[in-house]
Amino acid sequence: MNMNELSAKKSLGQHFLRDESAIRRIVDMMGIEADDHVLEIGPGPGALTRYLRESVCSRLTLLEKDDRFAALHSSCPRPGLQVIHGDALTYPWEKLAAPCRIVGNLPYNIASPLMWDIVSRTRGYVRAVFMIQKEVADRILAEPGSKTYGALSVWIQSYAVPRKGFIVRPGAFSPPPKVDSAVITLAPLPRTDFPRDAAALATLLKICFQQRRKQLQRILRSHFSEENILASLEESGIAPARRPETLTPEEFQKLALRLFYA
Ligand code: SAM
Repeated sequence: MNMNELSAKKSLGQHFLRDESAIRRIVDMMGIEADDHVLEIGPGPGALTRYLRESVCSRLTLLEKDDRFAALHSSCPRPGLQVIHGDALTYPWEKLAAPCRIVGNLPYNIASPLMWDIVSRTRGYVRAVFMIQKEVADRILAEPGSKTYGALSVWIQSYAVPRKGFIVRPGAFSPPPKVDSAVITLAPLPRTDFPRDAAALATLLKICFQQRRKQLQRILRSHFSEENILASLEESGIAPARRPETLTPEEFQKLALRLFYA
């Protein structure tokens, strides 16, 4: 099969990276070491994969939903290579062997839910490098009080330290997407710092960011007793009149635990 014959499928978010310098910078940012297991999400025709194949990693796993690309990579063996023809959204992230580095020029339509799962469920990844829509990168990197700060910022920052990489313009891809892209890295926080109850945090974030401009005390009233709300806010050191968009990830975690375990 010739990869030049393979056309891009819009439904799978296929925009193939053509810019060699961007490709090399992404692979450099991964900092691959000899005993590493590298997992690439959506290798497509193989812009990044070419470099990963040549790298010193001892295991390389390619997870691709498009059967054409899964077949293409399966037909080119390499020691330690495993090609999984499957959906990253249903991949058992908790079973990924450590130490592992994860990389992907992610399909933009699934990038947010995918990163949500990866940071909270993967054990023992040492770094993830993702190319995503710039606007989503801005949300992940946002600080409390900023316009783009929301549930995704709190969730990702509760599990990992995100860092800005570089911006990639539409012309670097074929076909070009309509928006700018950005490369970010995620380094996991120590597991002891992970939220103690992920479900409670996720529920609280959903409740709060549906009405981000309202005061916390008012938002929480439809879900918890007044007594619980006031005690939880006080014990968490959060003024009742604050708005969700001003709370740090640590404050959300504290508040979630207190509210749900009152
Ligand atoms: N890595 C290639 C590159 O940089 O040129 C392709 C990137 S393209 C933006 C996204 C890739 O993810 C495509 O190969 C697409 O088929 C694959 N993909 C889309 N949805 C997927 C899913 N749910 N699980 C795994 N791969 C998926």
